[in-house]
Amino acid sequence: MPRTAIVTGAARGIGAATAQRLAADGSAVAVLDLDESQCRGTVAGITDAGGRALAVGADVADAASVERAVARVAGELGSPTILVNNAGIIRDNLLFKMTEEDWDAVMSVHLRGAFLMSRAVQQHQVRAGWGRIVNLSSTSALGNRGQANYAAAKAGMQGFTKTLALELGRYGITANAVAPGFIVTDMTRATAERIGVSFEDFVTARTAEVPVQRAGYPEDIAAAVSFFCSEESGFVSGQVLYVAGGPRA
Ligand code: NAP
Repeated sequence: MPRTAIVTGAARGIGAATAQRLAADGSAVAVLDLDESQCRGTVAGITDAGGRALAVGADVADAASVERAVARVAGELGSPTILVNNAGIIRDNLLFKMTEEDWDAVMSVHLRGAFLMSRAVQQHQVRAGWGRIVNLSSTSALGNRGQANYAAAKAGMQGFTKTLALELGRYGITANAVAPGFIVTDMTRATAERIGVSFEDFVTARTAEVPVQRAGYPEDIAAAVSFFCSEESGFVSGQVLYVAGGPRA
């Protein structure tokens, strides 16, 4: 049965690969990001491959923007029953240098964003008696130097996921989290820049710590998200899957 999915932060990186994967799996996909024009590349990739997609500009941390975006998706693409809360930012710094703005910005996009999007989409899922919510956590949830804000947010995503699983299970809705390790995207490129090493050297150094001895790519994460969004994963809920080339949990 064709479904409608919303993937947040899907203009690039993991979100773009996930949107493309869910479209290839047969869903119509709302490609949501801050700037609608930035979503066009992902949308074109999907439509060129024969899929259905819609570019949606919205700020996941803003309640009115989220409500408008979800209503637009329902009207133009179909009632959304799959939600991937992927939008994210980093504002890294050691605790003593971290500003309140850095703390609040990270909490807003990851936690408030996932909360607002899930609250807006669940009404469609409850009505359908079926739904899939996948939240992006991170190996940073286990603790990571320079990421007190991000680690707290990503650990928070896991508690949020488990609670959604408990509350929404009776409506045929599952909620799971994917926790990526080191993935080659603009986000990790920005980290290399911040610490003053070339991205190539950064990838080599990080890959040396990975048991399978390679970097992760957005498609690795998209494959895990795809499973949690599938019809056949309906008995799997409240789980956190580390996709990190090794255990890390
Ligand atoms: P990315 O390349 O930086 O992409 C993130 C996207 O989210 C960007 O397009 C960004 O838009 C968008 N976004 C930011 N704030 C938003 C908001 N308020 N509303 C809507 N969209 C917003 O990041 P990525 O590496 O693909 O990461 C995707 C997810 O995986 C994030 O949740 C991240 O924390 C998680 N993750 C990544 C890694 C990794 O190694 N890359 C590891 C673990 C977890 P703008 O460009 O306009 O800011």
